[in-house]
Amino acid sequence: MYSTILERFIRYARFNTRSNPANKHMIPSSPEQVEFALKLENELNLLGLEEVFYDERDGFVTAKVSSNQPDEDIPAIGFMAHIDTADFPSENVNPQVHYNYDGKDVVLNKELDIVMTVKEFPNLKDYVGETLVTTDGTTLLGADCKAGMASIVEVMKHLIENPEIPHGDIWVAFGPDEEIGIGASRFIAEKWPVEFAYTVDGGRTGQLDYETFNAAQAVLTFTGTSVHPGAAKDVMVNPLAEAAKFYQKIPANETPETTSGYEGYYMLGGQTGDLNSVTAIYNIRDHDFDKFEERKAQIKEWVDEQNATYAYPRISCVITNQYANMGNIIKNDSRSFDLAKQAYAAVGVTPRINPMRGGTDGSHLAFKGIATPNLFKGSENSHGQYEFVTVERMKLASDVILSIIELVQDQPVVYHI
Ligand SMILES: [Zn+2]
Repeated sequence: MYSTILERFIRYARFNTRSNPANKHMIPSSPEQVEFALKLENELNLLGLEEVFYDERDGFVTAKVSSNQPDEDIPAIGFMAHIDTADFPSENVNPQVHYNYDGKDVVLNKELDIVMTVKEFPNLKDYVGETLVTTDGTTLLGADCKAGMASIVEVMKHLIENPEIPHGDIWVAFGPDEEIGIGASRFIAEKWPVEFAYTVDGGRTGQLDYETFNAAQAVLTFTGTSVHPGAAKDVMVNPLAEAAKFYQKIPANETPETTSGYEGYYMLGGQTGDLNSVTAIYNIRDHDFDKFEERKAQIKEWVDEQNATYAYPRISCVITNQYANMGNIIKNDSRSFDLAKQAYAAVGVTPRINPMRGGTDGSHLAFKGIATPNLFKGSENSHGQYEFVTVERMKLASDVILSIIELVQDQPVVYHI
């Protein structure tokens, strides 16, 4: 089963699809992602998926495997993975395959003497006897998220080749720019009529995420009065100093570096300016929706408080929501999460469930009303030259996907999209 998964993964991995944070205004942010998406569109067509479509408006390739149970009411579900790789060298990715891995240090590159040691990465011990795929030490591997892509595509191929397996409508979506914080925020969800979905972007085997932060960004602009320092007494208002004063309001124990678990925070994420004006960007994060709203209100209160110390308001504040905790949706309709847990159990994997201190494509989809837990793809050490995955774990991720497709048939249709 999934006999072409290694070959497929390596083919995807070799393709340079690094997203470019300097080109966030472009869709997608790098031309290589378009090239890859068009190749993928062609590949999915050849495999026999339906309604395969590369959408220039959002950079996503979507496709469908239609229900073969027309008389049954089965919820339509989706699987999503991102095509881009992290901001790390990704040219000439040259995957190395280590069959029957012996549990010892892995020589990634003999010439350059680059070794992945068990001492530094003791998790390697979990993969003895498996088919380990690594980099050659000079690039990332891109298993994040091409391992997820390969696992999804292999299951679609399996369904098409084995039409006797009953299933409902299954949608897939592969999109750009997840690694630069855009991801599914641009995804036009109307063309993806699913009741709920899954991203296959988690790391180690067993990872299952259904809670992310609620996220917003506050952009504060401090307007100063700039005069010659020699004549500044009682006239100058220095926005650099005022911005620094504002930062003092942030409680020291509510920053990313002092919090963990379910604790939310404020983070000064960037500040630029001069004696005329300063722009400061604050990230606001909390898992709890009420506390998240309180944090946004608190920022405004601090702004008002400081504005009251001037003859006229000098600080403006614009707060924009960025993504939502998918847990908020799953609280009301837990089918997606319950099925994932059942599927893990069915394939013998113990779920590792922790609140994510970040977002996923699923948190953008949550914003659009689609509950989207995050499944593991089985890779480790993302975003660097020590990234690796094994064929066995990719197949296990495929097993989970297939199991969800089987299990969803017993679920009621709720939305009738
Ligand atoms: Zn990823």
